[in-house]
Amino acid sequence: MLSLIEKLEKNHGLSLDEYKYLIDNRTDAAAEELAARAVKVRREIYGNAVFTRGLIEISNICKNDCVYCGIRRSNTNCDRYRLTPQEISDCVDEGYSLGFRTFVLQGGEDGYFSDDVICGIVREIKKKYPDCAVTLSLGERSYESYKRMYDAGADRYLLRHETADKAHYGKLHPAEMSFDNRMECLKNLREIGYQVGCGFMVGSPYQTSAELAHDLKFIEEFKPDMCGIGPFVPHKDTPFAAEAQGTVELTCYLLSIIRLIHPPVLLPATTALGTIHPLGRELGIKAGANVVMPNLSPVAVRKKYELYDNKICTGEESAQCRSCLDNRMKSIGYEIVIDRGDIKKEARDNV
Ligand code: SAH
Repeated sequence: MLSLIEKLEKNHGLSLDEYKYLIDNRTDAAAEELAARAVKVRREIYGNAVFTRGLIEISNICKNDCVYCGIRRSNTNCDRYRLTPQEISDCVDEGYSLGFRTFVLQGGEDGYFSDDVICGIVREIKKKYPDCAVTLSLGERSYESYKRMYDAGADRYLLRHETADKAHYGKLHPAEMSFDNRMECLKNLREIGYQVGCGFMVGSPYQTSAELAHDLKFIEEFKPDMCGIGPFVPHKDTPFAAEAQGTVELTCYLLSIIRLIHPPVLLPATTALGTIHPLGRELGIKAGANVVMPNLSPVAVRKKYELYDNKICTGEESAQCRSCLDNRMKSIGYEIVIDRGDIKKEARDNV
């Protein structure tokens, strides 16, 4: 096991069988070894800085029907909303004054948010706050659409691949959604020039170490700028309501592995991780993550953007979220910095 961990750190990659072995034979000792090395390489690149992104959940209206997701179109119990451009702009103003220098606009695939509407919002943010980065997370769109939003000033795009195994993808999504199209979208985003984030849920239904090995191989090859991984958490109004949730333990183990595969990657300790354990985000940072994404959405809609049950921070003001996270990160020896938090390119080019 130790030699495999050393090999991973040195080569930034392993074979599919080796990844599978690393997962199947994991022990507390292996997890500690991986975390220690992950924290060390991250420190060499980013010191003790933790980057922060203000997450604005712009709409829970979605044309898709992802089986795991609480805002899937078939969920008739979901109380739908969309923010107006003015409300989004107000969230950004508040976020800027709280020290955020990256804003993530995330939402379901809501037809209201046409290219024109998104481009208008992006242009306004970039004009008012040229020192900020804008990240979009709006699902699958055409090459032209991604290009227009990039030309309007968007810097980054988050599109989790969800699973790198085509058959597994088919079990998590309805037949009308396509694995190939999602992968094509990621390639297009990269080609256009975005900093691109992929990612997956840990412990999603039907996932085994074989599927996870494919996810790790995909990350090794794609070398994303960002990678969002968090535990699957069942939502009561989905067909996966009775499925088991992912674990903190495996999520943290994979965070450490991903840090070693691609040292400069921007890796969030996700809200889902914070939801299944009171110190989930701290544990994620200690395993090698270096980003937190507190919620900047208006309090009135937070509860409605419920991708999974019991999501945290749905009742708190943005300022409370910000200072709470500041304190949490300080308590474990890290510091949230006021910075766009771009990937360290020099480091990326050297690996
Ligand atoms: N519509 C956008 C944004 C999706 S929401 C898109 O398609 O990219 C962001 C992420 O939340 C998803 O990519 C998914 O990985 C995660 N998610 C959805 N349902 C979840 C659940 N039940 N448990 C944990 N994570 C979930």
